[in-house]
Amino acid sequence: MRINALPSGNGFSFEISHEPEKSLARVGTISTPHGDIATPAFIPVGTKATVKAVLPETMKELGAQALLSNAYHLYLQPGSDVLDEAGGLARFMNWPGPTFTDSGGFQVLSLGVGFKKVLAMDAQTFRSDEVVAGNKERLAHVDDEGVTFKSHIDGSMHRFTPEISMQVQHQIGADIIFAFDECTTLHNTRKYQEKALERTRAWGIRCLDEHQKLTLERSQKPYQALYGVIQGAQYEDLRKKAATDMAALRSTDPDSPIGFDGFGLGGALDKKTLGTILTWMNEILPAEKPRHLLGIGAPEDLFVGVENGIDTFDCVLASRIARTSAVYTMVGRNNLSNAINRRAFEPIDDECDCYTCAHYTKAYLHHVFRGKEIIAATLATIHNERFIVRLVDQMRAALIAGDYFEFKAEFMGRYKHLSGQARD
Ligand SMILES: [Zn+2]
Repeated sequence: MRINALPSGNGFSFEISHEPEKSLARVGTISTPHGDIATPAFIPVGTKATVKAVLPETMKELGAQALLSNAYHLYLQPGSDVLDEAGGLARFMNWPGPTFTDSGGFQVLSLGVGFKKVLAMDAQTFRSDEVVAGNKERLAHVDDEGVTFKSHIDGSMHRFTPEISMQVQHQIGADIIFAFDECTTLHNTRKYQEKALERTRAWGIRCLDEHQKLTLERSQKPYQALYGVIQGAQYEDLRKKAATDMAALRSTDPDSPIGFDGFGLGGALDKKTLGTILTWMNEILPAEKPRHLLGIGAPEDLFVGVENGIDTFDCVLASRIARTSAVYTMVGRNNLSNAINRRAFEPIDDECDCYTCAHYTKAYLHHVFRGKEIIAATLATIHNERFIVRLVDQMRAALIAGDYFEFKAEFMGRYKHLSGQARD
């Protein structure tokens, strides 16, 4: 059943096949020049053009449909021009499928506020526009034109503007790219949130203009879809305004103005109000365009996202915690380094169908983690990525079968929460 489709012809389209009742959830297919993505889908993160410790072939085998890398990191190293010469991100990293790049706005700005890895999820702490982590030099400064920042690698100074972010992301060549936005935190004042929102709207137009120009100039390259990013923190009026504004935004070309191909829902999101905030935005955003929730990947949050209209997710959490020996199981998180696993001659999760669970025991994983062997990161990451990819695949199947809420109740009844939001 075909409900909605964008005009095709450029290699990018989104078709919705199921819209189950009683929620905003939808099942569909995003088509890109490098292949299709069945949605809802979890997109594993390979920040620097690699999912740390795991071969791309293995990511494909464990069911990853696409990978997300980061424009900021690839711009600094090896340089986006290198990826352009290599034939784009997918070819450069030997990934046989669609790719996304995050614009760099979050990474550049998170340097400034000191939340280098994880955005604070706690709205109860103090509010200030000058939050800098203890003993950290402020590494980024925002103005209306763009952001000036210091490289975390060698201390050199750089500047990102909406135009530069588009140029960098066109050179990197991912199928789905994001507009440059100002990502605020829950700590910023209301006044600052308003200012940042207006800045992100103005930058959105500049991104569309530059994207349109680059798409024409580089017409021999595969089409890249541009998603606008919706901010507004925890404020209902700001989230709704951002969704309304970004949905209506067009480039300034008088003859054929273009809009966004999809939307990224970003910013600091308080876990308790995640569903409500997503509803504010998704009831306004055009149904026929895909929606990506940036940096969310804990199981309980994925359910909230899916039933509130999210099509794709990315989060670095699954691989990051794997490298610290933390693994997901059907009954919650397990730490493989704990002594209890020393003689546990059984798989991490006997319901898991991953390569690691088919071939290795917790006792072996305990041993390689304790011995700091490289294979530990590989085996644990394969399991965690498979766990999350499969969970969202199961949600999609349940939506099609019409028993999504039964599946959710059964899963959440056993699973103990593992909180977290992480972009990289
Ligand atoms: Zn497994």
